[in-house]
Amino acid sequence: MKKSIAEDARFRGIEPFAGKQWLSSPTMHGEELAFIKEAFDTNWMSTVGKNIDTVEEELSKRIGAPFVVGLASGTAAEHLAIRLAGELLYGRPKAQEGTLQGRKVFCTDMTFDATVNPVAYEGGEAVFIDGEGETWNMSPEALEKAFALYPEVKLVVLAHLYGTPARITEIRAICDRHGALLVEDAAESLGASADGTMTGAFGDFGVISFNGNKIITGSCGGALLTKEEAHAATVRKWSTQAREAAPWYQHEELGYNYRMSNVVAGVIRGQLLHLSEHIAQKKAVYERYREAFRDLPVRMNPTGGDRNRPNYWLSCLTVDRDAMCPVTRTATTTAWQHEAGRTCPDEILAALTAFNAEGRPIWKPMVMQPIYGGHVLVKADGTVSEDGAGSVDADIFARGLCLPSDNKMTPENQDRIIEIVRRCFE
Ligand SMILES: *Cc1c(COP(=O)(O)O)cnc(C)c1O
Repeated sequence: MKKSIAEDARFRGIEPFAGKQWLSSPTMHGEELAFIKEAFDTNWMSTVGKNIDTVEEELSKRIGAPFVVGLASGTAAEHLAIRLAGELLYGRPKAQEGTLQGRKVFCTDMTFDATVNPVAYEGGEAVFIDGEGETWNMSPEALEKAFALYPEVKLVVLAHLYGTPARITEIRAICDRHGALLVEDAAESLGASADGTMTGAFGDFGVISFNGNKIITGSCGGALLTKEEAHAATVRKWSTQAREAAPWYQHEELGYNYRMSNVVAGVIRGQLLHLSEHIAQKKAVYERYREAFRDLPVRMNPTGGDRNRPNYWLSCLTVDRDAMCPVTRTATTTAWQHEAGRTCPDEILAALTAFNAEGRPIWKPMVMQPIYGGHVLVKADGTVSEDGAGSVDADIFARGLCLPSDNKMTPENQDRIIEIVRRCFE
């Protein structure tokens, strides 16, 4: 039988964690329960109620987004944002068609698939835009090149990864210059800002997620942000089955059951009281890793410089090129050959798992996903690729990983994680 990596001599003296060290787990405080109880006691156990109203107002105020609609998930918010953008650009489709039927849309390549799948829901074709090293997000240079190649494109879908804002002021300006709408996926970056503006407020539409592993959570839930009251009204209507004003169920548009629950909103309402605290804790985790890894051949994920205030949702690292051991990845498997002084993300992740700690690979770029086979990626030099070869994103994916980043992680436990990573290089 193959021995566990934990039995390797390199890890001698390290004890497995008794309790799992999570990547990012929910952190409840108590107020959440009081707001859930309020919903229960007043019998607003549906998709209407004070918790939803308060969450929408509070998000609007904090993010500086004039209108906010609470929805069932970040994915639902992403879908309605993209659907509405498509309808504004190309008109209302027939019921059986999407609003982006046959149209190209520029999308972040290295992200969770929920960012880009709604383009496909709407019949559109994602054209992926390579990332850049300064933020790990969409490269403004590559986006410019993409507009040169496909000048007809009118929609850009961008995500801020791991809580670090993209070079969003530049990207907003590029979109404006080309008359394109911007959907800004701030699912991972709630509370982060760039150039003094909160992420989510740059886009024509912004998206927030309250999924269980985000910086604050409702167990699920999401929100759509917009600058126009009419757009908020449309999204509210679509999210509640698109009923018309009539004595019966009258439908002129396609509807969805995407509205936020007032119980879920109670959890979010309580969590919002602790957002800054969570950000401070996540930042402390990030800074500790960065200090501890100074003498290792690794780099932490970028913060994007002085104009950026990340929320530090996840701490990630990349192994320096010359410290990578040989590793072979297929679509679904990996095999590596440890060498003295060298390791790879796959070995570090295996070691973390063996000691009962949860890491995660970097989001596998979308252009490398079988479901998006045949789609193209545009790189900063203006060349295109159908498999991501030679892209910045593929390189980050090959050399990077997400570290356990739970805001409740104790310094002692973080030290043990640091030691496990360090021993991988022995
Ligand atoms: C979590 C996440 C989403 C989806 O949010 P859900 O609430 O889980 O539907 C979308 N985009 C990104 C980048 C995410 O990390």
